[in-house]
Amino acid sequence: MTEKRVYADSAASAHPFPAAIDAAREAFAVYANPSAAYENAGRARRILESSRALIAEAVGAGPDEIFFTSGGTEANNLALYGAAAALPPEKRCIAAGRIEHASVLKPLEKLRAAGFRIVFLDPGRDGLYDPERVFSALPPDAGLVTLMSAQNEVGALEPAEVIGERLREKGILFHTDAVQSVGHLKTDVKKSGASLLSASAHKFGGIKGAGFLYIRRGTPFLSPFGGGKQENGLRPGTENLPGIAAMAAALDHAEKIRKSEEKRLREAVRALDRRILSLPGAAKTGPQDEKKRLPGFASYYFPGIDGAALVQALDLLGVDAAAGAACSGGEKSESGVLRTLGYRGGGALRISLGWDAGEEDVRLLGERIPRAVGLLAKESE
Ligand code: PLP
Repeated sequence: MTEKRVYADSAASAHPFPAAIDAAREAFAVYANPSAAYENAGRARRILESSRALIAEAVGAGPDEIFFTSGGTEANNLALYGAAAALPPEKRCIAAGRIEHASVLKPLEKLRAAGFRIVFLDPGRDGLYDPERVFSALPPDAGLVTLMSAQNEVGALEPAEVIGERLREKGILFHTDAVQSVGHLKTDVKKSGASLLSASAHKFGGIKGAGFLYIRRGTPFLSPFGGGKQENGLRPGTENLPGIAAMAAALDHAEKIRKSEEKRLREAVRALDRRILSLPGAAKTGPQDEKKRLPGFASYYFPGIDGAALVQALDLLGVDAAAGAACSGGEKSESGVLRTLGYRGGGALRISLGWDAGEEDVRLLGERIPRAVGLLAKESE
């Protein structure tokens, strides 16, 4: 029955840019191992290093500060284990945001089991951290703080730069999971105060299985990995050349279109808000001020409706979207972010639009979401 499908789950994986696919295709043709000694390997090395230079330039880093990984999860794991292992004995407390991604929270559980003290920082109901509250919650033995740049369920743009700068003045290491913000908002590690920053290619138009960790020069760091000399020995293993080349091309392109895309996507979400927020009881989670939210990102909350059922109903109507975490009763809650933020007894719908979403998609979303919500509301009567 459904004509055009609408892809509204760009925050889960964005549609790769054609330029990224072209770069991957070119790199596939260079199959030599970049660490080998012959000329073909030199070609592979040149692709690797030009990709590193392009990425470094895009985020204001030096090429020697960019370490390729298999994605955001590995970058977060590497950042936390590597920085924690180098903390001095009197600074073995790690402070973390309470609504971080699992790839931060799970390593922290393991670090706690290994003897580190972990304390959590509480955001407001809109998912935003208040820098004053963060600083007053920091214990004197805090050696590392990890706080995301943009929240993946409610889209909150965290004051990571302000917090990072002050932490730097205090000599406390700062890691930021910037997986949702790199390529969508200006990232400048010189300004951010972060010693460590994680990013993932498939969130900004690259392909899956590539990411990077920025490590500021001079940051005390002991990698948990052992192997060859790749990535200065910090992340050994033969490099994913097509993924890395695609990531560099994607970030370069994303930077070029970033400003116009931000404007276009904010307008798209405003148009969608006008439709969705007129539904009975519908609310928007996360910051209400659009400037404090990721462009193209909206998380709606519907009381009395199950988020997973809503996603299924939308799937049948031709929409790919994600549920928020708060389902009625909470059992189906995956990460509990919305429960942590105080949402109960309803379901959330995360709409995240990327470069491939046009006016027609927004119009169809404005028709199909109210239809799906209406069907579920009728069923629960
Ligand atoms: N951090 C955040 C905030 C994310 O949204 C995600 C992916 O959903 C990740 C980390 C993990 O990234 P990857 O899928 O590249 O491992």
